[in-house]
Amino acid sequence: MFDSLLFSTRELVVAMVCVFCTVQIATLCTTVYLHRALSHRAVALAAPVEVAMRALIWLLTGIAPREWAAVHRKHHKFSDAEGDPHSPYVHGFWQIQLLNYFYYRREAANPETVARFTRDIVDDRWDRVFSHTWAGLLLFAGILVVAFGPLLGAIAFAAHVLLYVFLNSSINGAAHWIGYQRFANSARNMWFLALLTSGEGLHNNHHEFPGSSRFAQRWWEIDPGWYTIALLRSVGLAQPAPSVAIGE
Ligand SMILES: [Zn+2]
Ligand SMILES: [Zn+2]
Repeated sequence: MFDSLLFSTRELVVAMVCVFCTVQIATLCTTVYLHRALSHRAVALAAPVEVAMRALIWLLTGIAPREWAAVHRKHHKFSDAEGDPHSPYVHGFWQIQLLNYFYYRREAANPETVARFTRDIVDDRWDRVFSHTWAGLLLFAGILVVAFGPLLGAIAFAAHVLLYVFLNSSINGAAHWIGYQRFANSARNMWFLALLTSGEGLHNNHHEFPGSSRFAQRWWEIDPGWYTIALLRSVGLAQPAPSVAIGE
């Protein structure tokens, strides 16, 4: 029985490669759907693309989109000042870099924040389908256990959650602390972080032009989120929008 719990180095490597891919998919859906499309209305996605990304967010992150948009919009309104839900300058660098999840949850659980910052977001039938946010993550954990066995599946699930949370924390922590600044706002650009976060690491550019669906400002700045939007646009499945007013 115990033997069935063990795994080879090769199986471990395969599982970790899978985890890297699932985190990249989760991060891509986070930046394209949750961030650029829903929070900033910087791009309109065709319905099938939007539903697919919402399903992947549900399966791979357990995030309630409306809560994410509310917390993020509040972050833009009070960037690195009193009222910012997760600022390394207000709360401390390591606090945000390591504990961002808890700062996020605290703000997401505040009904006043959600109501004030997402007046324009109307719940639809898909919100009912994906309403149990933890059910998606549980299903994902079950898929990993079936694919890799109980022990390696549990390790893969933990690695997925930790890496996704770490990358998101790095946007709110490191990308407001380390890196180059092209524009006079408090955020920073980190090309290496952008590579791992579908372009989110170009955070100084984003804070300057939050209504732009393209974060890269130079050809050498890596923005896979924008490449995805451009590809979707080329086949009629996405329409980058001019900057519009958001819910607050
Ligand atoms: Zn920011
Ligand atoms: Zn933003």
